[in-house]
Amino acid sequence: MNADEYNERKIYSEASGASAFVDDQVSIRLNEFGVYEECLMCDEKREDIDRVCYVSPNLNSDINETVVSHELFSQHEGISFDDRIGYYLSLYVGHVAEGDFREKASSGGMGTWIFAELFRQNMIDAVIHVKGNSNPNDPILFRYDISRTLEEIRSGAKTKYYPVEMSQVLKLVKENPGRYAIIGIPSFIMSIRLLAMKDEVIRERIKYTVGLICGHQKSSKFCEALAWQVGIKPGQLEHIDFRKKMPGGQASQYGLEFVGYIDGKKTTIIKPKSELLGQDWGQGFFKQLASDFTDDVFNETADIVLGDAWLPEYNKDYQGNNVVIIRNPEISELVKLGRASNKLNLDEVDVHTIFRSQASHYRHTHDELAYRLYKKDKFGEWRPQKRVDPSKNIGLLRRKVQDLREEISIKSHVVYKEAVDSDNLDHFVREMNILSKKYKGLYKVLVIQSKGVKGIAKAVVRRLSPKKNK
Ligand SMILES: Cc1cc2nc3c(=O)[nH]c(=O)nc-3n(C[C@H](O)[C@H](O)[C@H](O)COP(=O)(O)OP(=O)(O)OC[C@H]3O[C@@H](n4cnc5c(N)ncnc54)[C@H](O)[C@@H]3O)c2cc1C
Repeated sequence: MNADEYNERKIYSEASGASAFVDDQVSIRLNEFGVYEECLMCDEKREDIDRVCYVSPNLNSDINETVVSHELFSQHEGISFDDRIGYYLSLYVGHVAEGDFREKASSGGMGTWIFAELFRQNMIDAVIHVKGNSNPNDPILFRYDISRTLEEIRSGAKTKYYPVEMSQVLKLVKENPGRYAIIGIPSFIMSIRLLAMKDEVIRERIKYTVGLICGHQKSSKFCEALAWQVGIKPGQLEHIDFRKKMPGGQASQYGLEFVGYIDGKKTTIIKPKSELLGQDWGQGFFKQLASDFTDDVFNETADIVLGDAWLPEYNKDYQGNNVVIIRNPEISELVKLGRASNKLNLDEVDVHTIFRSQASHYRHTHDELAYRLYKKDKFGEWRPQKRVDPSKNIGLLRRKVQDLREEISIKSHVVYKEAVDSDNLDHFVREMNILSKKYKGLYKVLVIQSKGVKGIAKAVVRRLSPKKNK
């Protein structure tokens, strides 16, 4: 690949900042659609860009997550392997019982606890994670940052559905000796692993990787569009809590808290996510293209993986629980001690339970990637090499779902920009509601198809019949 080809294909790159870190001629910036873009600023025929492509999983056609995870984990005593979730030493569902970790977190609080515990046990000196931007003159709301105290580590809790990149923090790691732990979505952790293969300093200093399960990445316009719906215009949002826990509801029925200016007055507004257009993750509003070309659902190269346990048996508790996959023996020990000392309330579970928590995500990201690849090949377009083979054999209605998801995600970026340019939120709401309703209609047909008319009639009768006295 030469520089010209790189710049054409980079829309498939996860733009983690790893390419900008390894090559001075790669610049990284948030583009007009609120998506990070790594751009090679040089003679378009420059050929020596192997390192740039190497650290970007979607542009590296030689090494995939299966190869890397085998190298990292297969030799551990007692390790198991599952085709779908990858290597694992232990699997859990539950939450942090110690202090207020869970209360302050998005889900069960393991994301913050594991860093705190590594730090308290003197296994690391610093944590690389995503925090609010402390620079009030910078419109970017969240960025990767380095925490060096327990207090700083705890202040980084909560999920940020916001684009981030690692080039600056990686430079800081390079300049400052120490033992670091990092958190990231699957493509970012894979980038770190690829980088570590080429860079001895990074390999030695980044001791532990915490992986998040990630449905997809959003653009920075996602939170802007949500805030505008509650009256906070673009540029006026100061802070957002994407995962406000709502007492009384289910964990998956969380809310959002917005802090921003309405008519010059600072205001805080909390809204259940169900009342905001664009919050149905299946529809894929403001999705980044690269997310649709990863096949790594369970962050296969991370030492420990965390996600939301929105399973019927755990979802009832609005405080939330994590699914946890552990691959690193030292982290496994730490978690065992945490359970033994009642700091952690984790149930041991089987592979099926972990998989069940991400069944729809797996169908979209892994199984139906086959159809997205097939479409690229059909139109003769370049696309990343994946572990899934291209195919159109996924059923007519599922193909329609995939087509509609693609249309929604592309249009959300474009229509939102038109809405901002014309200062007209209604344009966005009107246009996107048309597609959203079409999507919901399609899902109704899918339900009828899967249950059959008789099945639906039975369910309706069940719902309407009076409850028997116990
Ligand atoms: C973009 C995105 C999509 C996700 N999609 C899914 C999904 O489909 N299914 C699922 O089960 N879980 C998903 N998650 C993970 C989930 O939202 C929780 O983050 C996870 O369950 C950990 O919760 P916790 O309470 O243990 O973490 P907390 O204790 O709240 O800690 C969260 C940690 O994550 C870090 N962090 C926050 N945002 C980011 C980010 N953008 N990139 C890297 N690190 C970050 C924080 O700095 C903090 O260290 C997603 C997360 C993100 C960021």
